[in-house]
Amino acid sequence: MDLQALFKISHGVYLTGAKDESGRLIGSCIDSVMVVEADPQQIIISMNNASYTMENVVKSGELTLSILPADTPDELIELFGMQSSRDTDKWGPTSHVLYHDLPVYKEAVAYMYLNVKETFETAGHHVFLCDVVAGEAGTMADPMLYADYQKRKATSISMKKRWRCTVCGYIYDGEIPFEDLPDDWVCPLCKQDKSVFVPE
Ligand code: FE
Repeated sequence: MDLQALFKISHGVYLTGAKDESGRLIGSCIDSVMVVEADPQQIIISMNNASYTMENVVKSGELTLSILPADTPDELIELFGMQSSRDTDKWGPTSHVLYHDLPVYKEAVAYMYLNVKETFETAGHHVFLCDVVAGEAGTMADPMLYADYQKRKATSISMKKRWRCTVCGYIYDGEIPFEDLPDDWVCPLCKQDKSVFVPE
């Protein structure tokens, strides 16, 4: 199976908002949402089994969905997608308002409040059929498409500067920008300090 075929199915990028049992605001980033009925309004969303937000949505039966605009910063998507609400306050540093007492992203293209009507489980996900109890169209911005986000990420990675050790030829292209490496960092091969490196 060529997985690229699956990735050609168009979908967007979204934030979920919920509360855990202690009343803390939690949320995650998801990309699988589908409208199934316009009247009554129903959508299907799919959430990873490892997600703390998913666990709590199973218990509470309610959540919000924020549709992200095309210009959403990568940092926001990474915060909601790569961190867990179990140990990270995601909404605290994020521009948000409460909608039906649950958090939604203030800059969202649209947001809605959902009640879970039915749930089924696949190998790695919980799939929720939800009633859309209420919804607001926010800004006029275009929604983000998952494929565009992936393309943007690939471009920013390829534009990242690489640094070459002029002594041994070692190429540094690590996650941390070269400039941010500590002053006592040395070339892992020849042990020379940062001053012998030049940008590629
Ligand atoms: Fe070196």
